[in-house]
Amino acid sequence: MAMISTLSRMALAVAMLSPAAIVHAEPPTQELVVARAAILYAERIARLRIDRDDRFTARVRRIAAGLIARAGRDYPDTARWQWEIHTTDDPDQNADCMAGGKILVSQSYVERLGLIDAELAMLLAHEIEHAALQHNLKEYQQALRLDPGWAQRPFIELEDAVDNDRRLMSRLAPSNYEQEQEADREGMLLAWRAGWPAAQLAGYFRKMARESGWPNHAKPDYPSPSSRLRAARAQAATLQKNPVQAAD
Ligand SMILES: [Zn+2]
Repeated sequence: MAMISTLSRMALAVAMLSPAAIVHAEPPTQELVVARAAILYAERIARLRIDRDDRFTARVRRIAAGLIARAGRDYPDTARWQWEIHTTDDPDQNADCMAGGKILVSQSYVERLGLIDAELAMLLAHEIEHAALQHNLKEYQQALRLDPGWAQRPFIELEDAVDNDRRLMSRLAPSNYEQEQEADREGMLLAWRAGWPAAQLAGYFRKMARESGWPNHAKPDYPSPSSRLRAARAQAATLQKNPVQAAD
């Protein structure tokens, strides 16, 4: 208690001395990242043609529901999220899950790859893991570690920089590369624990690699499709030896 009140007094003192420092120098929190994601998601949804195919949207929502239920047990915070799931026929979109559980899936992408349900589950599970593992927040925290100067600037500038500032992006690339591998690995575990057969989950990576055109091409922030496929097959082989999927 004494510690908390000391910290509270310190926070109050800092706030009284320098309101600007509080506004600009507060490190981003998960609450802020989630609030911003909700705004950006609403803007995207308003721009795109969404949910045009009822059957496809229902398919995505049915598969996502099982994964979200599983995530709620594996990551209790996610059980309180305001999940939203929409689909689009925009060929420039792929699939993503923004912080706080805002999912958008392109029907064009899913049909181009010819994904069966388990493969769609793998795609969704990968994206859900990015959100559940708070990858956006961790990217901002990494940017602040690499360049503490960002702490003096409005958060909205950092938010833009992680996607558009080439110098910062290249410095973030190694940790973003690891986030992709983590989303693959944890995504397969999530979908497997939700009841999907591991070998079928790995099928997503086979189709993704086939569609990529450059399966052996890695980027600084993105593993090559073929390396993702190899890792998925190895993980699936291990999981298949384990008859128990979910303990609870
Ligand atoms: Zn990813």
